[in-house]
Amino acid sequence: MSERIQAVRGMNDLLPEKMVLWHRLESVLRTVAWQYGYQEIRTPLLEKTALFTQSIGDQTDIVDKEMYTFTDSGEECLSLRPEATASTVRACIQHGLLHNQQQRFWYMGPMFRRERPQKGRYRQFHQFGIEAFGWPGPDIDAEMIRAGERIWKELEIDGIQLEINTLGSSRSRLAYRDSLRQFLRQNLDQLDEDNLRRLDRNPLRILDSKNPDIQELVSNAPDILDFIQMDERKHFERFCESLEQSSISFRINTRLVRGLDYYTSTVFEWTTKQLGAQNTVCAGGRYDSLVEKRGGKPVPAIGFAMGMERLAELAIAQGKTRGQPNHPIHVIDITGAEVSSIVGISEALRDAGMTVVDHCGGGKLKTRLKRADRSGAEICIIVGETEREKEMVQVKFMRKSAGPLELPSSDLVQWCKTNLR
Ligand code: ATP
Ligand code: MG
Repeated sequence: MSERIQAVRGMNDLLPEKMVLWHRLESVLRTVAWQYGYQEIRTPLLEKTALFTQSIGDQTDIVDKEMYTFTDSGEECLSLRPEATASTVRACIQHGLLHNQQQRFWYMGPMFRRERPQKGRYRQFHQFGIEAFGWPGPDIDAEMIRAGERIWKELEIDGIQLEINTLGSSRSRLAYRDSLRQFLRQNLDQLDEDNLRRLDRNPLRILDSKNPDIQELVSNAPDILDFIQMDERKHFERFCESLEQSSISFRINTRLVRGLDYYTSTVFEWTTKQLGAQNTVCAGGRYDSLVEKRGGKPVPAIGFAMGMERLAELAIAQGKTRGQPNHPIHVIDITGAEVSSIVGISEALRDAGMTVVDHCGGGKLKTRLKRADRSGAEICIIVGETEREKEMVQVKFMRKSAGPLELPSSDLVQWCKTNLR
């Protein structure tokens, strides 16, 4: 017997039982994005590898070791997208969407990173994200946070904490980097192998370490807020004020850095204690120099990305899985005809917007009723030879003990409209 082929490790099937929740998540995310005036953008799953190496930075985990990259037969080096900001910026520049314009976009879809799979960390996962181009001031930073808060509220998820920080401009960040490196060099013996490697290439990443000893060490490291310039500090203060005005609670975490090189100025993360080690649900920040780096005119920009699997796991952990499951009407033909002659009934119900399952093929009535029951159906419509001749239908109630009802076929649509949810 040939070997059964399984899905690729870290790439999940989303089975129907989960889809009710996922549709609800997607619908809330889409609605909130629209409520804030964001427009949808969809970019390809495959892009030229250089887009990511040049945008995300070649000293980051994503580009260093997590991308699915291959050379196609045209000898072009391509990668599955590990995130969507770089693609969004590429699309904006390619289609001239940023010329003297301010733009708000949202996206949703699968991303690919070859990480070690574990709870909350997969090799194909989904992100919902928003990006805003053309606003230099802190108002838009605060708008993003309010949109995030609204999403938690709409999903009725609680216990999510907001942490914010500022990284200043790339110039002040360089000064900070030197000082941080100097501090860490004085404590070389306390760095593990991973972080020793980061020391030369990307010392800010060490602040992000999950190792408790390193966390202890960096709690005494120089503070980034001491390195940023006056105007950058003002931006951050006004951002904080705006959050306070909206009564949004937050914590300033000066150790918060992001894993992608393109961030500047405001950065933020929403975390939860309910997901174990993979505790970040949403993360983002400003990337004021990325558009110019990608060949566009300089345009300030900010965005965030939310991990939808983590959001789904959080909703499940908090029992917030209600959605709108489909309760179809089942139409059962027991006339004994080889080919059902009553499909017109089903189509008329669908014309009226209802969901209808035809029990194609034969089978025992009892089995078919069982199947209808499992689907959550409220009623079955049963037609036998006698009903068909009299142009009647029998309505069988599946959720209450009332006996069956006989109706003229021509009254059925109206009856369903009046009597079903
Ligand atoms: P982490 O620190 O958890 O690796 P990250 O900094 O790599 O996150 P981002 O690139 O900012 O994450 O992506 C934004 C969000 O996307 C994360 O906060 C998380 O919710 C989700 N995410 C990132 N990588 C994965 C993954 N491999 N599996 C599932 N969700 C992910
Ligand atoms: Mg990561």
